[in-house]
Amino acid sequence: KTDRQLAKYLANLGYGSRKEMEAAIQSGRVTGSGDNLRFDDEPLDPAPGMVLMMNKPAGFTCSRADQGRLVYELLPPRFLQRSPALSTVGRLDADTTGLLLFTDDGKLLHRLISPKSSTEKTYEATLARPLEGHEGDLFASGTLVLRGEDKPLLPAKLDVTGERSARLTITEGRYHQVRRMFAAAGNHVETLHRLRFGPLELGDLPEGEWRQLKPDEIAALA
Ligand code: URA
Repeated sequence: KTDRQLAKYLANLGYGSRKEMEAAIQSGRVTGSGDNLRFDDEPLDPAPGMVLMMNKPAGFTCSRADQGRLVYELLPPRFLQRSPALSTVGRLDADTTGLLLFTDDGKLLHRLISPKSSTEKTYEATLARPLEGHEGDLFASGTLVLRGEDKPLLPAKLDVTGERSARLTITEGRYHQVRRMFAAAGNHVETLHRLRFGPLELGDLPEGEWRQLKPDEIAALA
């Protein structure tokens, strides 16, 4: 890369303006070459095409500009200055915890959140009242219509994990879908946690933390 190309590349990673990056290069703050470039002796942030997994805590919203705390605040500030911009892959409610993906890859994003996408998402819900036994059949039926909608939900799979807890796997992503499904079954979701998104599991990633997906994980998603 020429210095001008490098300055543009660094500016797009959020390190500063192009002018600032040209100055940084002139003053020797950028060292190494190829895949081993360093800025102020630190390895460079991930190249475009990155995908991150976060264990989202409760109380953070997925919106970009809102009152209150945003999930983006849990990432390094520089990540918000990137171009192409980083965004969440779909949204989790402020109160929902668990697996949340971020990407700067617009094509991947649109593929994953398209209504045509059939990516399975698994949630663990705790409920206000004991399950009654009919919920699994109701959710699997393909005929459940949520209040205010007219198109039935696609079949979803319920695995009961306790008297007042269950795992629900859905392939759609309608507004407040899991909460509204349990409401349609006469119950109420008290806590909601996403364990799985397609081939990816949250594993032991601590709450509030994030990590970069490995190339094989990104390949499995796409
Ligand atoms: N369903 C919901 O109701 N909320 C979420 O955050 C995700 C799925």
